[in-house]
Amino acid sequence: MPTQHHVTTCRNFYAGAWHGTSGNRIERHNPATAELVAVAPRSSADDVGQAVAAAVAAFRSWRRTLPVERSQHLHELARASAERVDDMAAAITREQGKPLDEARGEVRKFITALHYYAEEAQRVFGRTIPNDSPGFTSIVEKEPIGPVAGIVPWNYPIELIGWKLAGATAAGCTIVIKPSEYTPGCAQVLSECVESTFPPGVVNFVYGDGSTGQALVAHPAIAKVAFTGSMRTGQAIFRTVSGITGLSLELGGSCPMIVTDRADIPAAVAGAARRSFRNAGQICIAINRIYVQEGVYDEFVDGLAAAADALKVADGLRVPSADVGALTMAETYQRTLDHIADARAHGAAVVAGGGPVDDLSPGLFLRPTVVADAPDAALVMHEETFGPLVGVAPFADLDDAIGRANSAPGGLAAYAYTNDTHETFTLARELDFGNVAVNNVDAGIINAPYGGRRESGFGSEHGHEGLESYLQLKHIRLRHGAQ
Ligand code: NAD
Repeated sequence: MPTQHHVTTCRNFYAGAWHGTSGNRIERHNPATAELVAVAPRSSADDVGQAVAAAVAAFRSWRRTLPVERSQHLHELARASAERVDDMAAAITREQGKPLDEARGEVRKFITALHYYAEEAQRVFGRTIPNDSPGFTSIVEKEPIGPVAGIVPWNYPIELIGWKLAGATAAGCTIVIKPSEYTPGCAQVLSECVESTFPPGVVNFVYGDGSTGQALVAHPAIAKVAFTGSMRTGQAIFRTVSGITGLSLELGGSCPMIVTDRADIPAAVAGAARRSFRNAGQICIAINRIYVQEGVYDEFVDGLAAAADALKVADGLRVPSADVGALTMAETYQRTLDHIADARAHGAAVVAGGGPVDDLSPGLFLRPTVVADAPDAALVMHEETFGPLVGVAPFADLDDAIGRANSAPGGLAAYAYTNDTHETFTLARELDFGNVAVNNVDAGIINAPYGGRRESGFGSEHGHEGLESYLQLKHIRLRHGAQ
């Protein structure tokens, strides 16, 4: 078992080497124990400039590499990472809080993404287009867009880096990654895997907080910003980047679930418990609010309350198989408590959980909490909590439930349970979200596009689209004279 007292020292990694910083440093403490677990540079604009310069220099040759060559580097990074699964997972648990088994699962999914994009790199095709005069042919080629800035949050600190790193480098782009200030240590382990598997300057890391991120997205040599994080920061970046920088925004939202009278209720309960409380609810596609048809409402609420009460909450390093670990940030811990208090004030009933796990203090542990009969006005029913809390409310008419599901800000993912074909297609088509999962709660798979709508942002990761977003088109019009 990994020790609790390990402190990871992170250093910026660019141009194939590690570097100190001219700024001061960030300290990260374990949210389960409050112990210091990582120190990292709080990089200045000057540090950012040097990392971007490395990415710009490497782009000149990386853009010309053959897809098969880029593929080999990605497979090699996957193999190097596979040898460090335990190190990376332990670093995630120490600074992010999710139980160790879950952290290992995240690293394995990251490795799968690397292999997937290694293969997808070789499936980029252009077109030829007939012209309306003889002797001409138009060719459309796809070229890498340029050096990319990848800015990521802390909830899936390795996987979210992975989608950007893999998609960008597979396309022939270079990248500067700014990990979250809450999870620098796992990125340091990843950079050590990059060092032995990629040419210098192709994949670079700079540590720091929002000001470092701001310097990176505003840098004029950055051709595209790939951002995952909160709506607030996404909106700030939208205003910061110059109009000629490519941009994808994967932001938060409030994700609904609809359960009809025709659903398999035990399956719906199991799905709701998993997608509301996994990673302590700190998932952009976590179920935040559930609308249940009147005929099955009581059965569903009783089942979900029992399922939530059965979840084991523990320090994820000591109990690797725990269901729920510590929350990552004091801010989300407090927001969850505030949303519970607000739901109570709106007349909702707390039917499971409701507060901290006292014997795990000072760790940021909360019991998985279900509030029933939550009115639309309660914060939990329209604002992202990002903690282990879900609100449940009854409905009579399916169109009304769909309208309520569509009414909160954001359009990332929605879930539905029904065994009726007409209801299935109605829900799949009318829910205004980038991802709709019916009779399952795993809305994202690596080979299908994943992205949000409205306030949840734009652009796709995963799938071929997650690679195309790093490419730009070029029309080449040839006059060759052949008839
Ligand atoms: P955040 O927006 O606070 O921070 C995300 C990253 O942006 C961090 O690296 C941070 O240092 C950096 N940053 C902060 N201010 C910046 C600025 N002005 N310019 C550039 N970079 C800046 O988000 P968070 O609290 O780390 O993550 C939680 C949020 O992320 C939730 O809202 C969640 O829904 C969202 N999220 C979305 C997805 C998705 O795929 N749509 C996935 C995971 C998380």
